[in-house]
Amino acid sequence: MLLATGWTARLRDLAYYGADQNYVLAVFFYVGILTSLSKLLGLPLDYYGFRLEHRFQLSNQKLRSWARDQVKGWLVTLVIGAILVELVYGTIRATPRLWWLIAWVIFIVLYIFLAQIAPLVLFPLFYKFRPLENDALKERLTRLSERAGTRVKGVYEWKLSEKSRKANAALAGLGVTRRIILADTLLEKYTDDEIEAILAHELGHHVYRHIPKGILVEAGITFVGFVAANQILHYAIERRHLFEQLSDFANLPLLMLVSAVLSFLLMPALNAYSRFNERQADRYSYTAIPSVAPFISGMNKLADQNLAERRPSRWVELVFYSHPPIAKRIQAAEAWAREQAPVASRQSPA
Ligand SMILES: [Zn+2]
Repeated sequence: MLLATGWTARLRDLAYYGADQNYVLAVFFYVGILTSLSKLLGLPLDYYGFRLEHRFQLSNQKLRSWARDQVKGWLVTLVIGAILVELVYGTIRATPRLWWLIAWVIFIVLYIFLAQIAPLVLFPLFYKFRPLENDALKERLTRLSERAGTRVKGVYEWKLSEKSRKANAALAGLGVTRRIILADTLLEKYTDDEIEAILAHELGHHVYRHIPKGILVEAGITFVGFVAANQILHYAIERRHLFEQLSDFANLPLLMLVSAVLSFLLMPALNAYSRFNERQADRYSYTAIPSVAPFISGMNKLADQNLAERRPSRWVELVFYSHPPIAKRIQAAEAWAREQAPVASRQSPA
C-alpha cells in the first residue's frame, strides 16, 4: 500500500523532518514508523489469536502479560530491524555497485551471531529458563549423547507454564550456547521414558547438524533475495522512475515486498525440508531408545495437550507444516518397530 499510494515518500519526508535532515537518524525514524504501523495493523489479529488460545484452554496468560509481550516483541523488531536496515542503506551508500554482496555477507554474520545469542538474550525476554535439575533425566541424556559420540552442553527447563498449557521442546543456540530446552509443562506430565524419547529427537537434530545446515540454506536464500532486490530496485529507479536513487530509503517497502514474495514462494519447499529433518530426528530417536512405545505415547500426549490436528489435509501439510502431522509420525514409528521385530526375534537364542 505504501508503494502503490506513494505514502512511502511522505513517510520518508516526515522522517527527514523529524531527524533534522540527518540521513542515519531519518532511516531509524522511518523504520520506527514502519514497525509501529505494522504492529498496530497486526494487533487485532494477534489479539484474536490470544482469545482463541484462551477459548480452547491452551493459554493461561493474563492480558497484562500478553500486552507486555507485544511491546517487547515490537521493541525487539525495532532494534533488530533498525540495525539491519541501517546496515543495508549504509552499504548502499558506501558501495552502490556491490552493496547486495556485502550486505549479504553482513547479514549472514549477524544471523549466526543472533542464532548464538538468542538463548542467552532473546528467549529470556519472554520466558524464564533454568538448568534442568532432574538428575535421573540428566543421566539418561548423558548416556544418550555418549552413545551418539557427542556432548550436549546443557539442558534447560523452560518455564512455559506461566503462559501456556501446551508442551514443547527444542534444540537451540550454536557452538557454546547450544542447548536442549524442555518445557516444564512437558517435564510435569510425561514419563521419564517419554521425555527420553523427546530428548533423543532433539539430540537427533544435533547429530544431523540441522542448525548449521539450516543456516546454509538460509544463506543461499538470502543471496537469491539480495540479487533479486538489486535487480528490482534498479528496474524501479531506471525504468519506472519510482525513486531517484538506490539510497532513497523510501524504497524499503519494495525490498520488504521482494523478501515477502520470496518467502511466500519458498514456504512449501522450506517446510518440506524441515519435515525431512524432523523425520530424520524421529528416526534417530527410535534407534537411540530401547523401545518406540514411549515415543508413540509421548506423541499422543503431545497431540492431545496441544490440540494438534492429527491428520490435516494434504495441502495444508504441504504448504504450512514444518513438522510431519502427528498421525504420520506415529505411523512411521510403528512401521519401524515392525521392521525391527523379526530381526530381534532371529537374534534371540531361543
Ligand atoms: Zn524436531
